[in-house]
Amino acid sequence: MAFDLKGKRIYVAGHRGMVGSAIVRRLSSEGCRILVASRSEVDLARQSDVEIWMEKNRPDAVFLAAAKVGGIVANDTYPADFLYQNTMIAANIIHSAHEIGVEKLLFLGSSCIYPKFAEQPIREECLLTGALEPTNEWYAVAKIAGVKLCQAYRRQHGNDFISAMPTNLYGPGDNFDIQLGHVMPALIRKAHDAKLSGAGEMTMWGTGTPLREFLHVDDCADACVHLMKVYSDDAPVNVGSGTEITIFDLTQLVADVVGFEGGIKPDLSKPDGSPRKLMSSEKLRSLGWTQKIALREGIADAYKSFLRDRRLDFAREDAAGLHDFRDI
Ligand code: GDP
Repeated sequence: MAFDLKGKRIYVAGHRGMVGSAIVRRLSSEGCRILVASRSEVDLARQSDVEIWMEKNRPDAVFLAAAKVGGIVANDTYPADFLYQNTMIAANIIHSAHEIGVEKLLFLGSSCIYPKFAEQPIREECLLTGALEPTNEWYAVAKIAGVKLCQAYRRQHGNDFISAMPTNLYGPGDNFDIQLGHVMPALIRKAHDAKLSGAGEMTMWGTGTPLREFLHVDDCADACVHLMKVYSDDAPVNVGSGTEITIFDLTQLVADVVGFEGGIKPDLSKPDGSPRKLMSSEKLRSLGWTQKIALREGIADAYKSFLRDRRLDFAREDAAGLHDFRDI
């Protein structure tokens, strides 16, 4: 039986993040009451904060999109934070959801929970069949704990808790920092900067040969809402586009969308990382969901949001008297 969201009280944990904010946008057309909690109100890593808030607000359903996230450098620098905070957030919310009788909960994991050398496209069944990629194992172990908590509460208490594993996401709310951001936002920023400065070329890290799968965050939010309605089982569900692109082709596509007409220069001092990371989307397709936002269209939307954020930053800096010109 489908889980109807209409009229329900839905808590989105992590509503300020890229995924959580997309889920809030997507839920606005579902006729439900959306609940969010600010960081000053609730520290999700503190059990008593979470218990008090959940008891007081009593959501009917929960999207658990809160997490401490970051790229390879952040993972490597703050292993304790990544492991401790993400484990605590998952345990606190899942346990208190059980305690107050939440009807349904969706936990968001990550494709990095799968073994480093998993057969591709990566199927849900290969979870815990091999060693993890060491650079992000702290984050991955915490996310695996979240998946296992959902399974354990379902098994022991019959709670309808499910989990979704998204692929590389991009879109509004992304981190467009060149050093710390993932490839999509970094390329958008670099192509934009190169266009404005009139540079003859922009750099692409590595050889450009690795293959990656991308999904717009609004598609991810749509898939999560779909799963919340139709899926009820203990195995996680991959959320991806099912298609791959080489980093070189992606760089060309981003340059084209942004309007940068110069060349692309590989920076071979930077690592390629994994040669291929594709998840199997078979299960999600069989549940009746397909991607709606094509890659070119999604990149154009992400670029638009990047420009909007920059305008807001400039407006704030202008107000503080830091600019007498605009360059966006
Ligand atoms: P990964 O998917 O975990 O490897 O993380 P990233 O999104 O950071 O990188 C994906 C691929 O894009 C790697 O092969 C990078 O070398 C390549 N890449 C090319 N240019 C860039 C860039 O400007 N920033 C980042 N982060 N990656 C880039």
